[in-house]
Amino acid sequence: MKYDVAIIGGGLAGIVSALKLKEFGYSPLVIDASLPQAEGSIGGFVKFSGAKFSLPPAGLGLLDVAGSEKELYTAISEVETFFELDLSSSFESHDVNKEMDSLRKYQSVVLEKEEINTLVNHLDGMLKSKNIPVVQGECVEIKNDRELFDVKIRSDDGDVVESAKTIFFAGGRRNNSLIKSLGVKATKGKGIDVGVRVEFFSLEDLKKLRSLGPDAKIIKDRCRTFCLNSPGEVYYYDYNGVSIPGGVVASCNVERANFGILLRLDAKAEVLNRIVSYYHDIQPCLIENGVTVESGFLGRAEPLLKELYGKSSVSKLKDFADFLMSKGLVDWSKPHIIHMPLIDWHWDTFSVKGSFKTSISDVYCLGDVSGHARGLLQAAVSGVLASREFKNGRS
Ligand SMILES: Cc1cc2nc3c(=O)[nH]c(=O)nc-3n(C[C@H](O)[C@H](O)[C@H](O)COP(=O)(O)OP(=O)(O)OC[C@H]3O[C@@H](n4cnc5c(N)ncnc54)[C@H](O)[C@@H]3O)c2cc1C
Repeated sequence: MKYDVAIIGGGLAGIVSALKLKEFGYSPLVIDASLPQAEGSIGGFVKFSGAKFSLPPAGLGLLDVAGSEKELYTAISEVETFFELDLSSSFESHDVNKEMDSLRKYQSVVLEKEEINTLVNHLDGMLKSKNIPVVQGECVEIKNDRELFDVKIRSDDGDVVESAKTIFFAGGRRNNSLIKSLGVKATKGKGIDVGVRVEFFSLEDLKKLRSLGPDAKIIKDRCRTFCLNSPGEVYYYDYNGVSIPGGVVASCNVERANFGILLRLDAKAEVLNRIVSYYHDIQPCLIENGVTVESGFLGRAEPLLKELYGKSSVSKLKDFADFLMSKGLVDWSKPHIIHMPLIDWHWDTFSVKGSFKTSISDVYCLGDVSGHARGLLQAAVSGVLASREFKNGRS
C-alpha cells in the first residue's frame, strides 16, 4: 500500500505526528523498533525518562518553527488534548534572582510510573481507534529512486517494504545512519554538552536547589545545571558503545537525589571522538557504579574526566561547582557519586533552521533528531508542528 507519510520512530514525536496527520486527512504509517527495554511497547524513551513534561522556557528552540509564542502554546494545548493531561496549572515561568547569572524556574509536570503506562496505553488505543497502522520492526533501508520512498522494515516475520510519498524521521537519539544514507545533511546543531550526573544519598542534600523550583536551571557562562528531577534512579543508555547516565527515571521509592552539571562545547565531532576513543580504557566498574566521592566535587573521577573532556573543560565544570557551593545550593562536603560521561546533544540533528524539513525534499525530521529542542513535551509538540508544516506545504 502507498502511504502519504511513513513515520520512522514511535516515540512521542512520531505518535503525535501520526495522530495529527490523520486528523488532517492524510494516511500515515508508523514504524517503530521499540527500544530494547520497552519490550515491544511504543513511546520511545517515555517509559525510561524522568517523565517530566517541561513547559516554556524549556523548548523555546521550537519558537522559530512555531512562528510565535501563541502558536507554540496552541500546539502545547493540542498535545494536552491528545494526552488527556492537564498542564495548564503550570503555565508560569519566571526569571528570578538577578545575582546569579541566570536562574530559570521551569514549570513541569512529573508523572508517576503508572500514569506513564496509562498514557502509553491511551496513545496506543488512539492509534488503533483511528486505524493508523503501526509496524513493529527496524527500518533498515530507505530508497527514493522513484516518486516514492521504499522503506524496508525488518521484523520478526521477515522483511517487508512499504511505500510512502514523504518520510517523517522521528528516530530520536539513536544512531542515525539510516537517515544519513539517504543523503540528508546533518546540521551544525547546538554543539555538545559534557559533564557529570551527581547523585547524593539523601533527598535532603538537594533540598536547596529544589527549593528554587521543581526543575530550576542555573546557567552561568556555558555551564548549567541539568535535569534536577528527584527522587529517581540514574538511567544509563547506550550511544555507539558509550553508556551514558543520561537521565533520571522518576520513582517515589528512591531516597537518593541527583542532578546533572553540563558545559556546552562547540567542537562536537572532535569532542565526541575523544570521548568514544578514551571511554573503552575506563574500568567498567567506574562507569557502571560511578565514582564515590567523600568530600570535594570530583574526587577520583577528575583524572578520568580530564581524559574524556580535556583539562580546560573540567576546570570550567569545577568553577561552576564552586559557584553553586558559594551560593549555598550544593554542599560538596557531603558524600556523593559522580556518574559519567554525562553528555547531551551527542546525536546528529537534521532539520533546517525554522523548519522540520531537511536538505532532501519530502524528508522531515522531528523530535530529538530535529535539533530544535529535546524533551518529552517538545517531541510531542514537534509532532503537531511538523504535521502542520507538511499540510501547509501541500495546500
Ligand atoms: C534517561 C532519560 C531520561 C529523560 N528524562 C526526560 C524527562 O524527564 N523529561 C523530558 O522532557 N525529557 C527527558 N528525556 C529526553 C526525552 O526522553 C526525549 O527528548 C524524547 O523521548 C524524544 O522523543 P522522540 O520521539 O524524538 O524520540 P524517542 O523517544 O527516542 O523515540 C524514538 C523511537 O524511534 C525508534 N527508532 C529509532 N530508529 C528506528 C528505526 N530505524 N526503525 C524503527 N524505529 C526506530 C526507537 O526505537 C524509539 O522507539 C530523557 C531522556 C533519557 C534518555
